[in-house]
Amino acid sequence: MQVEGIDVWRVLKGAGVKYVYFVIVDIYGRPRVDIMPIDMAKDAFIDGVPYDGSSIPAYSTVNRSDFVAVVDPSAVYVESWNGGKAAYVFTNTLDGNAPSPLDPRNVLKQVLERAEKRGYQFKIGVEVEYFVVRGNPPELPEKAGYFDVPPDATRKVVEEIMENFAAAGLGETKTHHEVAPSQFEVNIPYGNPLKTADSILMFKTMARAVAAKHGYTVTFMPKPFWGMNGSGAHTHISVWKDGKNLMASVKEPTQELKWVVGGILNNAISISAIVAPTVNSYKRLVPHHEAPTRVVWGLGNRSAMVRVPYYGGKINRIEYRHPDPSMNPYLAFAAVVLAGLEGLENRIEPPPPVQEVAYDLQGVRETPPNLGAALKYMEEGKIARELPSDFVKAYLGVKQAEWQSYAQQYQWEKTWNTITPWEYEQYLTTV
Ligand code: GLU
Ligand code: MG
Ligand code: MG
Repeated sequence: MQVEGIDVWRVLKGAGVKYVYFVIVDIYGRPRVDIMPIDMAKDAFIDGVPYDGSSIPAYSTVNRSDFVAVVDPSAVYVESWNGGKAAYVFTNTLDGNAPSPLDPRNVLKQVLERAEKRGYQFKIGVEVEYFVVRGNPPELPEKAGYFDVPPDATRKVVEEIMENFAAAGLGETKTHHEVAPSQFEVNIPYGNPLKTADSILMFKTMARAVAAKHGYTVTFMPKPFWGMNGSGAHTHISVWKDGKNLMASVKEPTQELKWVVGGILNNAISISAIVAPTVNSYKRLVPHHEAPTRVVWGLGNRSAMVRVPYYGGKINRIEYRHPDPSMNPYLAFAAVVLAGLEGLENRIEPPPPVQEVAYDLQGVRETPPNLGAALKYMEEGKIARELPSDFVKAYLGVKQAEWQSYAQQYQWEKTWNTITPWEYEQYLTTV
């Protein structure tokens, strides 16, 4: 049975929710919200939420500014970390009667429909890494490392994040202390990519709020500290047909797995500005910190861009290690699915898997050196032509401006190995 918006409203009202936060996703993949008391919100569940599209960056111009955000009844999250007082309800934006191509949720939905028409379902899960810090410039509250028992300073934050993960409707997860001090990872459960993307936004919103209660900041900037591991958003992908995982096998990767890897590696450089979209992203993509710099794949190889998890020889997915948590997950997943589809349809064989540490490999392609270069590759690449042109134009516009703002103040050649105040200002609490 199709759930209608009004049914959702009744459930929320019955559960004692006082406010509804209608979520409009912006071009950066961040939630913007219109907040209504529950009774006033009733009509919006039926007719949608009117808003000024010209005030959301790159959505529209002031002379064409009236948009309507229509409720997605399957994307509702209760704000458990605040006593369940508010519910976040995701929307899709209409421009006139058609889905607006500037709404990243619409962009991803269209790509998923395209895959579906060709008989494929993509499922995606993401490991999101983050730091718990204090102040700007940020300070690290503790110095523990991989799988350490979290010291008291971060433990109380991390446990409260875990409690709220399930309570907010994000599913089951686990967590661990990561390699860098005060760094953690959480797993966003795999499933429909649209849901996974929504969950990432809600997870970040929740984690920030929980940390703030304890006087900390949670940061998702990809490389907050030079000389330490950065934070990735490793994206785990499987492809299904008729309810069967085409990547499931024992010992040897399946043919379909290899084609998807072929498609992703072929497009990795031109989608870099999508999966690693900030100036700071490129300071993460440097050797010897478990982040990729070479466009290669391998079995159980954490220095490769695509790793096939290979525990006990069992295979069921691939891990794309290039993305970081500053990405717009809707756009990133749209790009990844398009790249994977291309691999499947054109039967793109990847080069042989690499077993050695990839950082010093010669004669293989490398990730772009910085955001400016990545944007040029994106402009020339195939995937950008397959996404809605209005969206791509708007995205390139805001991202080029971001790069220019940095490049006016700093020379990349002199600052690629230091984290600048501009980056903390831009990214510490926002991405
Ligand atoms: N933090 C590393 C990165 O930047 C990844 C570490 C890991 O393999 O979990 O991608
Ligand atoms: Mg990790
Ligand atoms: Mg991983």
